[in-house]
Amino acid sequence: QSTNATFPPVLDANEQLLVDSFDNTSISTWSYYYTHGAHVAGTNRTMAQWTADKFAEYGFTSRLDEYVVYLNYPVSHSLQLSYPNGSIFSASLVEDVLEEDDVTSYPNRIPTFHGYSFTGNASAEYVYVGRGQKVDFDRLIALGVELEGKIALAKYGGPFRGLKVKNAQEHGMIGAVIFTDPVDDGNVTEAKGVATYPNGPARNPSSVQRGSVQFLSIYPGDPTTPGYVSKEGVPRADKSGSVPHIPSLPISWVDAQPILQALNGYGTAGVEVNRTGWVGAIPGVNYSTGAGSGASLSLSNVMEDKYTAIWDAVGIFNGTNEDEVLIIGNHRDAWIIGGAADPNSGSAVLIELAKAFSKLSETGWKPLRTIVLASWDAEEYGLVGSTEWVEEYIPWLKTAAVSYLNIDVAVSGPIPEFSATPDLHAIATAIQKKIIYPFRGSSDQTLYDVWKATTGEIGVLGSGSDYTPFLHRGIASIDMGAGGGPNDPVYHYHSSYDSYHWMETFGDPGFHTHKAIGQYLTLLAYHLSSDPVLPLEPADYVSELESYLSELSSTISAASTNDTLDLSALVSAISTFSSSAAEFNALRAQAVSTSDSDLITVVNHKARDFSRGFTSQGGLPGREFFQHLIFAPGLDTGYAPVTFPGVTESITFERNFTLAQEWVGKTSDAILVAAAILKT
Ligand code: GLU
Ligand code: CA
Ligand code: ZN
Ligand code: ZN
Repeated sequence: QSTNATFPPVLDANEQLLVDSFDNTSISTWSYYYTHGAHVAGTNRTMAQWTADKFAEYGFTSRLDEYVVYLNYPVSHSLQLSYPNGSIFSASLVEDVLEEDDVTSYPNRIPTFHGYSFTGNASAEYVYVGRGQKVDFDRLIALGVELEGKIALAKYGGPFRGLKVKNAQEHGMIGAVIFTDPVDDGNVTEAKGVATYPNGPARNPSSVQRGSVQFLSIYPGDPTTPGYVSKEGVPRADKSGSVPHIPSLPISWVDAQPILQALNGYGTAGVEVNRTGWVGAIPGVNYSTGAGSGASLSLSNVMEDKYTAIWDAVGIFNGTNEDEVLIIGNHRDAWIIGGAADPNSGSAVLIELAKAFSKLSETGWKPLRTIVLASWDAEEYGLVGSTEWVEEYIPWLKTAAVSYLNIDVAVSGPIPEFSATPDLHAIATAIQKKIIYPFRGSSDQTLYDVWKATTGEIGVLGSGSDYTPFLHRGIASIDMGAGGGPNDPVYHYHSSYDSYHWMETFGDPGFHTHKAIGQYLTLLAYHLSSDPVLPLEPADYVSELESYLSELSSTISAASTNDTLDLSALVSAISTFSSSAAEFNALRAQAVSTSDSDLITVVNHKARDFSRGFTSQGGLPGREFFQHLIFAPGLDTGYAPVTFPGVTESITFERNFTLAQEWVGKTSDAILVAAAILKT
């Protein structure tokens, strides 16, 4: 294996063939195809079929898996500001059409709306609620701001947008407007003299972030079939607990500017509210709460409800070992015509990966483990295509899945980022050392070198993409992609300006980052599907569990109550897990040194299965779907992870130490189950 010091990396013949098969021009061709068509979930069967046909062309057995799910689509909307003096400002609610983005061939621009938003009108005074997190609302209440019956004006950033709407709804508010703020664009802003897209890399002022407002931390997937597959004719559950009851709209910063300005000087000024992320960077705005401004908003949002088909394109390359399968997934749906970064940088890479494996199979190679390629539909509404698929195939996946590899936004900038379960950390890092990664003009560094110098650590998985249903059934998972830093071109997330033109001009000119990320995913898939000894490292959970435990201790101290928590069961479970992992390593070493293929199968199956032990059938408190007891998306963040979530959130969210103690027990038991599966 090559090391940090070896450049160029030393590859074996199969690795070299896979890596050499990657071609940036070919990737740009796939990207061009994907970024010039309809993408909104359930609207483009042709693109799904094209994907399945490509998988077939590259030797995979392919098909479309269809589900019938609840979605809603935009019909009409409007937003007006009434000043106390009676004058009116009407928000445009549209993004400027740019010749550069080829939208002239697609006259039906996708409206700016929220997926799963509520149809309704709201007319009332409005309050600026910062990023709309629980703490923001707590602060408003402490300041004596009246919320009931008002409209929430929230800033994007921080928690998942659906939680902003949920929090507003739970405080008796009757509508929500969420705006983009250039404060999140780092140094590349109009205010700092940088030209805006399409003339330069700064944000186009009219850009709007579309996106789902599902209450994702409860459960993802089709909101009418929680926990079971959403096929035509199945009984439908009441969805009211998982989608909003108040209307909401996303707006650009230019539309937000007058609305925020009308609050200047009313209530508490932004700096005095003194909350993380409260003050933004829109010129002429001081981010006041606005209590007593006398200004009001009139919001209307009309959506069409549908039970409609969505299509997951699936490609299968059978391996020799029938009871071992590797799944590689990317979603295909987007909120817009383009979607060059989200998700089609990943979609283009997935096609190139299929092509690479077809070249390898021409040499007579066949994987040991079955490889499944999945192109998901309806991720954007709430991980719908992947969740329904997992709900359909769960018996097989629980028995056979060795890992799930997710690639969503493969590239929106140059900085590589990875999040994964601990058992994948070692292989994830080893493969980084095999990839040449072009970075800011240099071409003599490996992906490992660049990653080490930038991101430097593998993150914990929370939620926000299709790994979620796999992770929460105890399947080892990884998510990857390259993003921008504060000085890189602004990525117009969920906006029409996430276009092919943006990508080829600013995001990844020449598609070289696409190529490197694709080579990485391909070699990772190659080793996980083909190494005789499955490259998962259960023992790498030990140090992670220990660090989660010390974070938990800090959380307890920070909670500053007189309550105490006895963590000895967790300490002891981690120690038992550690001994079992050591035994496992010894058995594996013995299997390898004696070339005992039956014993290798035994250890491979232990490595495949042990993490199922971390799950609990009943899930976390109040959210049955989320079964992994070691990590979960935060109840209050939606995206960002919480470790030992049952315990941690009982403290931080519920403020209930009795419940926390109960979850110390359940979490320890889960760790002991995982240990028992590993034990020899
Ligand atoms: N990735 C999408 C988003 O961030 C979907 C997230 C979800 O619903 O889980 O909007
Ligand atoms: Ca379902
Ligand atoms: Zn995405
Ligand atoms: Zn997205």
